[in-house]
Amino acid sequence: MWKFIEKQKKILASETNALAKHWGGKLSVVLVYPNVYSVGMGNLAIHALYKILNDHPNVVCERAFLPDKNDMAESLRTNTPVLSIETQKPLSEFDCVAFSISFQNDFLNIIPILSLCSIPHRSNNRGGDYPLLLAGGAAVTINPYPVSQIFDCLALGEGEEVFSEIVSVLCEETDKKQRLQLLSEINGLLVPSLTTGDVKKRFIKDLDKWRTETVVYSNNAEFGDMHLIEMSRGCPRKCRFCATPSLYSPFRVRSKKAISQMLQDGEKFRNKIGLIGADLLSHKTLIDIIEEIHEMGKTFSPSSLRVDGIDNKIASLLAKSGHKAVSLGIEGASISLRSSIGKDFSDDQIISAVSILAENKISFVRLYFMIGLPGETLADIEGIVDLVLKIKTEMKKQKKMAISISVTITPFVPKPDTFFCKEKFAEEGYLRKAIKILKRSLSDKKGISIHHDTILSSQTDYILSNRGTDLITFLENIYETGSIRKEVSKFGL
Ligand code: SF4
Repeated sequence: MWKFIEKQKKILASETNALAKHWGGKLSVVLVYPNVYSVGMGNLAIHALYKILNDHPNVVCERAFLPDKNDMAESLRTNTPVLSIETQKPLSEFDCVAFSISFQNDFLNIIPILSLCSIPHRSNNRGGDYPLLLAGGAAVTINPYPVSQIFDCLALGEGEEVFSEIVSVLCEETDKKQRLQLLSEINGLLVPSLTTGDVKKRFIKDLDKWRTETVVYSNNAEFGDMHLIEMSRGCPRKCRFCATPSLYSPFRVRSKKAISQMLQDGEKFRNKIGLIGADLLSHKTLIDIIEEIHEMGKTFSPSSLRVDGIDNKIASLLAKSGHKAVSLGIEGASISLRSSIGKDFSDDQIISAVSILAENKISFVRLYFMIGLPGETLADIEGIVDLVLKIKTEMKKQKKMAISISVTITPFVPKPDTFFCKEKFAEEGYLRKAIKILKRSLSDKKGISIHHDTILSSQTDYILSNRGTDLITFLENIYETGSIRKEVSKFGL
């Protein structure tokens, strides 16, 4: 235990702006990100909720994360619970344990965390002596049912407003039964033991009212060298495979004034500004904001850029910020396949985007493709090979600087509330063949590297995104046996 306390203290000492409020008489909440510290601290939801909760005079909020592989083994061996960063307390000592879950596969980490803390993972096995267990985030909003037997209450949609309402209930009422009754009456909350019927997701109207940015700075976090700022939420495009437009609806942008304020306040902490948004190029004042960042003597890094939005202006600004690499989501190999999924840009537009980037000395492009899309055949997979090689050849022809291409392949996962929600997950044999073709055709080519997500991980994502309450045994069995493959194979995908 002592070793883990020291470790959390060391993390706390390495951070800037973490808060360790006095507990006396306050509602204690621990925000848990069910993945390791570096990943969790790269997630803006944790920062935003941490600030909202700690700004409340009657609440003390701390953070906790999944122990890394070595620490997990050691924790199990020594029976040491997961400890909060701020005061190194076990999760069971908090009034409320609130999980923020962005990715479906992180559902697998919930039972291990609760077990380490000796908190029964099924809600009907927990009495009033245990902390209240809440969960929210994109994964819960996409499909809350796999974890509905674990949590006392699930928040669907965006958390800013609803968390303030949850806190009011928890501060006023101490009896668990009464708390759950009151929570079940709040819009956007699903209390599995009480709620009947559908729950409408909560969305905030005005992004400017809420600051979503890095609050606690840590060099050990993903994107830890940046001050992250959310520019917009949702997406004005409606790619048929993508859950973002329905997850964060409608598309909203932060005003330039609100973003400038965050830039100025964060100026002293970091020299690099991470601009976060699903379709940044549709933010009307993006160029002004980037120029403001450059005038401040800082650089910027965009979370995403559209192929058909790359022009000389944005490429030169990226170059000015020192970028040597850019990521582009191509998704489908052929124009017809791309049109069918809502990404209808031509091969020429892709080549033109890469060419403009190369002219601006950005010589490394990461191209993202999905495989197993509805209507796709192995001929389309050959199309990915042709497209990547065509880009290389064209750059050579145009005598652009030698470019390097990294190709990342992800098996397509149909998600609820999307146009493709009723599609099946592609057969494993087909996906294996597709990956084999891509590796065989591209991996030995100079200046091209290929990476792929595992089929098993996408299958797990598919199951957890689309199946229901029976998945509690799926999660329990994986925890007991440690074999994801064995449990996934039972679904016969
Ligand atoms: S894939 Fe990107 S551009 Fe398309 S809807 Fe999703 S976030 Fe928007």
